Amino acid sequence: MKNREFENVYIRTLLNSIKMFRILLALFFINVSFAQQTDKVDFIKCYAYLSPNASEKSIFGKVTYEFKVKKAIDTIKIDAKNMEFSEVIINGKSVKFKNSGKILDLFEGFKKGKNKLTFRYSAKPKQTLYFTGDFSNGTGQIWTQGQGRYTSHWLPSFDDVNEKVIFNISIAFKENLEFFSNGNFKSSILTETANLKYFQMQKPMSSYLVMLAIGNFDKQTTITKSGTPLEFYLDKKDVSKFEPTFRYSKEMFDYLEQEIGVQYPWGIYRQVPVRDFLYAGMENTTSTIFAQDFVVDSIGFYDRNYINVNAHELAHQWFGDLITAQSGKHHWLQEGFATYYALLAERHIFGDDYFYDELNDYAEQLNRASKTDTIPVMNEKASTLSFYKKGAWALHVMREDIGAKNFQKAVKKYLKKYQYKNVNTDDFLKIVKQVSGYDVENFKKVWLEKAGFEMEIAQKYLTKNKFIQDYFALKKSKKSLGELTDILKSEAYHPIKQYIVYQTRNVPLEERKVILETALATNDILVRRAVAESTPVIPEAFKSQYETLLNDNSYQTKEIALTNLWKNFTDDRLRYLEQTKEIVGNNDKSFRLTWLALAMNTENLPEQVKATSYNQLLDFASENYESSVRQNALELLLEMNSNNEKVIELLFKSTLHYKWQFTKFGRDNVRRLLKNQEYRLIVEKLATASNDSMKELYLKFLNEK
Ligand SMILES: [Zn+2]
Repeated sequence: MKNREFENVYIRTLLNSIKMFRILLALFFINVSFAQQTDKVDFIKCYAYLSPNASEKSIFGKVTYEFKVKKAIDTIKIDAKNMEFSEVIINGKSVKFKNSGKILDLFEGFKKGKNKLTFRYSAKPKQTLYFTGDFSNGTGQIWTQGQGRYTSHWLPSFDDVNEKVIFNISIAFKENLEFFSNGNFKSSILTETANLKYFQMQKPMSSYLVMLAIGNFDKQTTITKSGTPLEFYLDKKDVSKFEPTFRYSKEMFDYLEQEIGVQYPWGIYRQVPVRDFLYAGMENTTSTIFAQDFVVDSIGFYDRNYINVNAHELAHQWFGDLITAQSGKHHWLQEGFATYYALLAERHIFGDDYFYDELNDYAEQLNRASKTDTIPVMNEKASTLSFYKKGAWALHVMREDIGAKNFQKAVKKYLKKYQYKNVNTDDFLKIVKQVSGYDVENFKKVWLEKAGFEMEIAQKYLTKNKFIQDYFALKKSKKSLGELTDILKSEAYHPIKQYIVYQTRNVPLEERKVILETALATNDILVRRAVAESTPVIPEAFKSQYETLLNDNSYQTKEIALTNLWKNFTDDRLRYLEQTKEIVGNNDKSFRLTWLALAMNTENLPEQVKATSYNQLLDFASENYESSVRQNALELLLEMNSNNEKVIELLFKSTLHYKWQFTKFGRDNVRRLLKNQEYRLIVEKLATASNDSMKELYLKFLNEK
């Protein structure tokens, strides 16, 4: 009996647990269906005809989506922020829809299997699609930034990166400008009112990688070893800067394609700089956008160049675009890989010492940050530094441990297996284990799941390089000036020489002179810049040698040298200004701004030159320039005379920009100055005499409590 009773209880428990399991299973699926539409519906192709309107800062579009319903579903959702819809048609029939201002809900007209949806929409995006410059004077540009900002602000699409679609975009624009979207250019039609260009993709991608760019661009092209066309774009006024800006592009492309071991997946690769971009670069599939600040001439090339960003965005075409992390937790699979492969590409160009110097720099940054940064790499809230540089370090350790051959084999297998799909960290680690037998569990624990940075382990990898050994040894040693001079004369890598110049900065000049002279004689731009920077007080005996720094191939060096010479030798100020008056410098106009500020403070400079200089500062603070130039010019103008009416107008206008750093600068200064009664009265007077839009702007701040 007992047994039987026992049996019954057993069966009941078993039945109960099965029932429970079913309920749990059902709950689980409900959850998934809320979170991921991709399980039930697959959006396959998008054909979008887009027409941006520069004067309205709006966009109009006619869109077709082909999609497949895999499992029964009530409502299909498309992300669409602040858009208006009309003519929503599914499979040839007009359908009802719901537009919440965030999502377009479709709930009728579709069936299991293939479906076709078309609609018209219009939007006036507050973000993601940007209109800069002025189309009436040839400086106008329109461009997008999808990552972190959501493409669904300008094109109805999918915020979920797991929905990959083949996007075929055509753009109509009325001005005679260069423009493009993702994919291959297929055809164009020139009508009386617009130029229509049609672009075509072969393979699917996540919506955040969709782009468009319109501007007064010129184009140069080349072709890679494997036959991929590379297209380089620059603003027409920058045509002389093609070579230095895009230097090593082809070499890095050929190298990465070979090193990664998988052919570049997208058929064509374009790169275009735009004004006031929000980041350094963005890896839109086939068409990277980057910041205008990286556009350089052959002198500026030595101050700041596009090489690292170039390689980084290119690497993303595989790591991010071809395979995309399923969620923020696995973001390092994009940023860590792009950062590491960019370093490998730079190693190919600049050699081992460069590579190890960068790795050492990353390690120092990570080690410093580890004192406050407690979030590991595998966490959606990890810092940029962790995702990028710790991610890169983790890959370096792995590659050294399993060997370059195995690493390449694993990466190749991983890319092939998951191409045009989404991935997580274990997908990658599993393949690494298969290929090499590596202890991926320990790797994951130490490098991806643990906070902080393993400086001691990192140093073991760093000291495989002779330059790093010497560098570390020098930092620990105490060497005589004679020994240091010998090192400066040797073939030692430049960071060692820079270190010596900085370390001796407090040595009296009579003794240090030999160091400085030897450093200048290296003719290394970076070592010479260290001399310029570390010698703010220039003794008469070193003057003529210091003056040679004004001729270095670096605007940064020139700027430091001019400033220090101007400060040290009052009688020679006019001569220094005369000698450098034609130099503008890099895209941020930093050299020229410094020159203008020095000119305004030079007593015996003719009044007329001062007046011209002031007007040029006003121009640099105007909407004709990028926010970085405007902010630097405004800072100088505010120091000179903040009550000038033109300066007030320019400062208030800065609060209207889309870059938050610049608007914050503007707002903070406006509010600070308005506390002064005299300033307030001037602004009130200006408000009454201004046009409507300026008046509104002045009153907005005047009426603040
Ligand atoms: Zn990146």
